[in-house]
Amino acid sequence: MSLEIVPLTLGPVFTNAYLVADGGSGEAAVIDPAWDGGTILAEARRRGWQIRQLWYTHAHFDHIGGAAEIAAGLDTAPLVALHPEDRPLWQVRGGAMLFGFKIEPGPAPGIALEHGQFLQLGGLEFEVRHTPGHTPGHCIFHCAAAGALFSGDLIFQGSVGRTDLPGGDWQSLVESIREQVFTLPDGIRILSGHGGETSVGVEKRTNPFL
Ligand SMILES: [Zn+2]
Ligand SMILES: [Zn+2]
Repeated sequence: MSLEIVPLTLGPVFTNAYLVADGGSGEAAVIDPAWDGGTILAEARRRGWQIRQLWYTHAHFDHIGGAAEIAAGLDTAPLVALHPEDRPLWQVRGGAMLFGFKIEPGPAPGIALEHGQFLQLGGLEFEVRHTPGHTPGHCIFHCAAAGALFSGDLIFQGSVGRTDLPGGDWQSLVESIREQVFTLPDGIRILSGHGGETSVGVEKRTNPFL
């Protein structure tokens, strides 16, 4: 059992969707099905993986825009995981209208994410950490066995998530990063919602916003 990660940069604001699977069982999930659900589905099919779950770091439109197309292409509707504090944002389609986009929201979230909860993917576990600041219900997913953190729009390579959108809060964002990211080992890979890969150690030393 090993975590396989396929990053796909999709959509109008270049969002990273992560198709992840337990290599042993082929059980797959999509962390932030950003856009172009058909592309994500095709990647899973090519590898013989079954997408069963969609995990949202937060409900902004550019992180959920591919969900409906993925769901439509599966025999069984995927389980959708979202923190309840981002549910209102999901209900307004992630603020798509604000940016002049239209999205289909896809299946309603059936898993209410909670801080400290573990999500299962085959034999792998992902710890959920609630990290408000960019949005009130923002969460990050830590797979300790794989040494990987999926950080959504909390922290990026050399940058941090914006806090000027509805529900954003700078103080909370900084606290979330310090308490939930910088407490992890330096070697943990950070796979974020936009931009390239980085690590906890590199951001601790060089992120100019912190
Ligand atoms: Zn966002
Ligand atoms: Zn984003």
